[in-house]
Amino acid sequence: MANQQFIKGVLKGIAASSGIVIGRAFLVHRGKMRILQKAIDPPQVAAEIKRFKRAIERSKHQLLEIKEKITAEEVRRHFFILDVHLMFLDDTMLIQDTIEVIKNRRINAEWALDIIIGKLNTAFDTIEDEYLRERKSDVNYVAQRIFRNLMGSGHDDLAKIKGNVIVVAHDLSPADTIQMNLNHVAGFITDIGGRVSHTAILSRSLGIPAVVGLQTVTSMINGGDLLIIDGYGGTVIINPDEAISEEYIEKRKQIRLLEREVLKYATLPSETRDGYRIKMGANIELVEELPLAIRHGAEGIGLYRTEILYLNREDLPSEEEQFQTYRRIAEGIAPNSAVIRTLDVGGDKFPSKYGYDHEANPALGLRAIRFSIKEPQLFKIQLRGILRASAFGKLKVLFPMISGIPEVRKSKAILEEAKGELMGEGIPFDEGIEVGAMIEIPSASIIADTLAHEVDFFSIGTNDLIQYALAIDRTNEHVSYLYEPLHPAILRMIMGIVEAGHRAGIEVGICGEMAADPAYILILLGMGLDELSMTPFYIPRVKKILRRSSYEEAKQLLDEAYRLSTAAEIEDYVKKKMAERFPDDFTLGYHWDGTA
Ligand code: PEP
Ligand code: MG
Repeated sequence: MANQQFIKGVLKGIAASSGIVIGRAFLVHRGKMRILQKAIDPPQVAAEIKRFKRAIERSKHQLLEIKEKITAEEVRRHFFILDVHLMFLDDTMLIQDTIEVIKNRRINAEWALDIIIGKLNTAFDTIEDEYLRERKSDVNYVAQRIFRNLMGSGHDDLAKIKGNVIVVAHDLSPADTIQMNLNHVAGFITDIGGRVSHTAILSRSLGIPAVVGLQTVTSMINGGDLLIIDGYGGTVIINPDEAISEEYIEKRKQIRLLEREVLKYATLPSETRDGYRIKMGANIELVEELPLAIRHGAEGIGLYRTEILYLNREDLPSEEEQFQTYRRIAEGIAPNSAVIRTLDVGGDKFPSKYGYDHEANPALGLRAIRFSIKEPQLFKIQLRGILRASAFGKLKVLFPMISGIPEVRKSKAILEEAKGELMGEGIPFDEGIEVGAMIEIPSASIIADTLAHEVDFFSIGTNDLIQYALAIDRTNEHVSYLYEPLHPAILRMIMGIVEAGHRAGIEVGICGEMAADPAYILILLGMGLDELSMTPFYIPRVKKILRRSSYEEAKQLLDEAYRLSTAAEIEDYVKKKMAERFPDDFTLGYHWDGTA
């Protein structure tokens, strides 16, 4: 079936890393293997155990060899996963219990290991904690490696990948990913995984398009099949016909042209024709994204989400590790500033050490600042890391999910404690470090006037503000049609926050996705926001519109929008006006970033 030129299917997955690529599939066999079940005679037991131990040793040797061969800095950062795998190879439960089963039931090593893995998987399935579920996949990666070594089926030689291929796998362990010759990998697609799975994070930091969570893609693709990956929309097309290939080649050409064209705006000042300045910040999750942010014209980091430092690992990030990371950001973005948002985890995403119960309403549960205040030691370690790094550049601290003044005061008190400690230890930090509150809960927006006197700046998190104000779960596709950034209630809320902030003399920015949509720029400009922070990729585009607009026309547009009574009316009105004003930017058949 390979190489047939017909449309076999269009699959929808999770867009993990942006970009469009067309290439041939390279199938990585990481599926579950058929396990031979064989009884053995008592005299063979010792030899069987020896064979099993040899497979363990070979597996360890292979992992150590992978570690040695890797030199790229961005890849080395993921080494701890290899260490976790090595640790499993020494794990009593896995190794000793398998040996016991070989001995007691007199069966072959593969069968015995399969029984133990089955038990471990059942045990993992009863656990809610996301981190532990990740560990389940690590146990299975390790088991697959041992099986391959037992059965002598060898490994796909990932290091020998040639050409320009799209790697197709059920799942890729970081060990798999980092041993590939990444110069020959044009894209990744996997059956499982989400936006924060290792493959997704690694592919984003390496700039390789990826779609994950495709469920059964490995059973639908043969090695050598022609594939199109659309990493913007999360689509994969298998064996497209010529017309579709051409459509995507054209789409990619258009996006590249647009990107190249808008990139010209990256370094130009972010100001309107009538001289109104609005700062463009970048939202980043990885230090590796800094060069990209700067290239796209970011005038600072408006939001550094620190969650990734804490998740998918067994231990907690130390103060030193955090300090080093924040310092790299402070130095990398200098002379501009970076806003470090303190930990925003919760719901079903806690650092491994904290086994909180599953909550019925995680979005309304122990999230973000509530979690940090409940775990002050953990919070203080992060704040000390941020403070220490503030001696190396301009950093600001941002508290997420503030619902009222007591949370701000409590958080600031812990910050003061951290400052006091550092002072006592003679460690330098920026004593005047600015402190901000994310305004993303309606109660905070309503009391913005009093809250504004407690902090140095506001950052509006529209992703959550819309979710909580309109009671729309931001992850639920059944109600996504109600997720309306231009709902009259949202416009009034943002306007109220900006006015309250300005009356108190503090700056107000937006760091939610709403800031990245070029269609909304005039509305936000009209409201008088001081900063918009977004995924770096979107900055030049927003700047392009801004530089051809005036504050006066933005105010007029906002006034008109304010008079309308429904989200749909406002949306239609704004989009129509924007298409009239900027026909080249808003009348393409598809959205400029590749989405339909
Ligand atoms: C937001 O809620 O708008 C925001 C920027 O934060 P996050 O998306 O990380 O919740
Ligand atoms: Mg938020």
